[in-house]
Amino acid sequence: DLRQWQQALRAQFPIVTGHPELAYLDSAATAQKPQAVLDVVQTYLTTSNANAARGTYTWANRTTELVERTRERVARFLGDPQPERSAVHFTSGTTEGLRTIARDWLPGFLRDGDEIVVPDADHQANIAPWREVQRLLAREGTHIRVVPMPYQSGSGDYDHRALAERAGPRTRFVATTHVHHVYGGDMNVQRIRRAVGPDAVICLDAAQSVGHLPVSVAELDVDFVVFSGHKALALPGSGAVWARQERGPAFTPGGWSGTPNTVGIASLEAALDWLDAAGPERVEEWTVALAARLTEGLRHLDAYEILGCPLSLAADSAVQRRQAIVTLRHRAIDSGDLGFILFSHGFMVRSDNHCQGDAGEKTGSVRVSLHVYNTVEEIDRLLSVLASLQ
Ligand code: PMP
Repeated sequence: DLRQWQQALRAQFPIVTGHPELAYLDSAATAQKPQAVLDVVQTYLTTSNANAARGTYTWANRTTELVERTRERVARFLGDPQPERSAVHFTSGTTEGLRTIARDWLPGFLRDGDEIVVPDADHQANIAPWREVQRLLAREGTHIRVVPMPYQSGSGDYDHRALAERAGPRTRFVATTHVHHVYGGDMNVQRIRRAVGPDAVICLDAAQSVGHLPVSVAELDVDFVVFSGHKALALPGSGAVWARQERGPAFTPGGWSGTPNTVGIASLEAALDWLDAAGPERVEEWTVALAARLTEGLRHLDAYEILGCPLSLAADSAVQRRQAIVTLRHRAIDSGDLGFILFSHGFMVRSDNHCQGDAGEKTGSVRVSLHVYNTVEEIDRLLSVLASLQ
């Protein structure tokens, strides 16, 4: 059953099992690494470390193969029906991936009078680069309009109906988040596609979805997928951009300018293998069930306000599916203080305004985010500490 499955997986995270007195509840910031990933890093560095490409010796050739193989691995992990033909570009994470698209691809795609849709309560990484494109093009005499992605008030979800009203034939590019890093909702990309039509390019910030739930480009019908390896159990400094074939060669994929982060890429291949074997749908089932348990418990504690959780906050929400992120605020205790208090009980959570854009939360909150190593016992202990602070 799911509990036994989870126990076997949790046992593979040495940092977690090595600290039974602590509970890591900050996986939306970065995830812990299973032994298989640590082993691959050690093996790569002790058997094959070299620079990629142009090599005339085994280690360089192995490294080149690793990089090429991992491009295909990423595409396959993302449900690309033709993984060997798509463009995958390695980055240091989501921030760099989104910037790369904004810097190297989008300016050449846009024409004077075009519109781009940019969400204003997403993670900053998915706002600033797109606004910068507008400024950059304006200096060259090309004027584009930035249409803010509307949010439904109070729900933390996009307002797809309002988006359909705002989008027109000049709407050629949409930046969107897959799973919101504060509210936890799956932002329903298919509805965005319907609102903007088949020709607009959709760029998906998948920082909070890849590694947490099945992500299929075939189903989502998006043009770019950007994610962070470190949130998907790989090393910090690893990440990738997948580009739909028709958009490629998006940014010299396959080109070898500079030294790639080969260790990060090795860790990414191992992490995706590990996740595929674990089953992203079961990872989602486990973590969402824990987050739902936390939410149910919180609903009985009047001192807390829930800003995001796996149970929908708005009755008319277009979001059908929600993820393992619970964001809360104590009505009397500052969120930074609450973070410190929780850590004094062994809980590691995130507290601040979570790098949200201008339209996001300003007062600060505490975010609890989960991964496959978290347990029912951790959630129940957290609930009892939260109850004691009422
Ligand atoms: N987008 C979202 C939705 C995120 O949650 C994050 C990380 N918190 C980022 C972008 C930035 O990711 P990274 O720090 O790996 O570049």
